[in-house]
Amino acid sequence: MSDKVKDSAFKWIDGNRDRIIEVSDEIWGYAELGLIEYKSAKLLAEELRRHGFNVETGVGGMPTAFVAVWGKGKPVIGVMGEYDALSGLSQKVKPEKDPLEPGKPGHGCGHNIHSASAMAAAVALRYALEERKVKATVKFYGCPAEESGSGKVWMVRDGVFDGVDAVLSHHPSSMNVASLSSSLANNSVKFHYRGKTAHAAGSPEQGRSALDAIELMNIGVNFLREHVIQDARIHYIIESGGGQPNVVPDYARSWYLVRAPERDQVEHIYERVLKIARGAAMMTETELEVEFLKGVSNKIPSKVLSDVVTSNMRLVGPPEYTEEEVEWARKLVSTVSRESKVEQLRKTKRPGWEELVDVVLDRTVPDPWNEGEVSHGSTDVSDVSWKTPTMEFSTSTWPLGAPGHSWMNVAGGAHSTGHKSLIYASKVMAASALDLIADPGLLEKAWDEQRRRLMGKEYKSPIPA
Ligand SMILES: [Zn+2]
Repeated sequence: MSDKVKDSAFKWIDGNRDRIIEVSDEIWGYAELGLIEYKSAKLLAEELRRHGFNVETGVGGMPTAFVAVWGKGKPVIGVMGEYDALSGLSQKVKPEKDPLEPGKPGHGCGHNIHSASAMAAAVALRYALEERKVKATVKFYGCPAEESGSGKVWMVRDGVFDGVDAVLSHHPSSMNVASLSSSLANNSVKFHYRGKTAHAAGSPEQGRSALDAIELMNIGVNFLREHVIQDARIHYIIESGGGQPNVVPDYARSWYLVRAPERDQVEHIYERVLKIARGAAMMTETELEVEFLKGVSNKIPSKVLSDVVTSNMRLVGPPEYTEEEVEWARKLVSTVSRESKVEQLRKTKRPGWEELVDVVLDRTVPDPWNEGEVSHGSTDVSDVSWKTPTMEFSTSTWPLGAPGHSWMNVAGGAHSTGHKSLIYASKVMAASALDLIADPGLLEKAWDEQRRRLMGKEYKSPIPA
């Protein structure tokens, strides 16, 4: 049955191409930062409501998070959409740097496409399932603040992903791949120290320096580095270190990020960082306050979902580009040196990456090659992946060599090359969901794999109660 249902879904996407692009471009124009994506979330929720979805807003305690549901019964397939922008990246749809509004945010991670592709897939699924009388539930997850607040971690903690059989999402990138790599787990924490102020020359014995505590803590952590696993990453900044040197600072603040490939590794290292922080307070007779900002888990990959998505990427076929589009894309990355592009490609470890050095827009669909690899970034998609088999696939949106979170990605995200990626991804997502709905054996296999990879580990929210 699945081929006919897929045709219905593709037909809906083709027939509503202009509107899907309009939604994506509108969100691109709003360029709202995490947790204040009011217009973007409203637009998406209204669009879904218009197509018969039931919308619940404010989930996970966030006003811009929502869940839109259509259908009844099993299986329950989720799709996720992100819509937060990045600060300072405002840019016109032009192949040279030219801010639309200097200093304002821009969609440097393509989250306008992220949410529009999921919205289009959800609505296409809904009509295809209805037309072909197939029973299933489709859930669209409106996920705020991926960049700054790890919104999905709060949504997972709120239980909104419970009972979902599989989750799909799409992220713009420079390659078409349903990646098998994991990602780093992390904790983001601020340390506030409070001491006593005094004249630093006249009566230093009366003072207790909060800055001393920060410095001693940093020294302790820097010695700790030798005794943690190689793949861990610990970075910090000093946000506040006093006012002027002749006053003993009574307040100082640092901000730490602790990352490691596995969630429990982060927790072990973080416990040791806390001991050092407390030790620094004891040494300096200052008071310590720990402000836990957020944490995310490592990603649990899904080979079963990766295979489903890869086969649908090939079935739909990557978009064709006109000569003008390739020329535009070439110009967009003309400031990226060849060396830098080579390094970026090498870092992907993709077999045969050398052949891509002169390619502008990648139109191939390679077999995913990165099983067992851990990408150095972190994402809140990971926390969802502990609850249910999850696949965030990428499609080629930006020219090879374009750096992540750059003005180039802002420009590409509202250009016709970005629009083609959006339509392609919408079809791939809808078709993949339909495969999962049509064949219960696939979902069973995905859950077997999930259990095997988790090895009995239970999900524990990185956010303390
Ligand atoms: Zn992103």
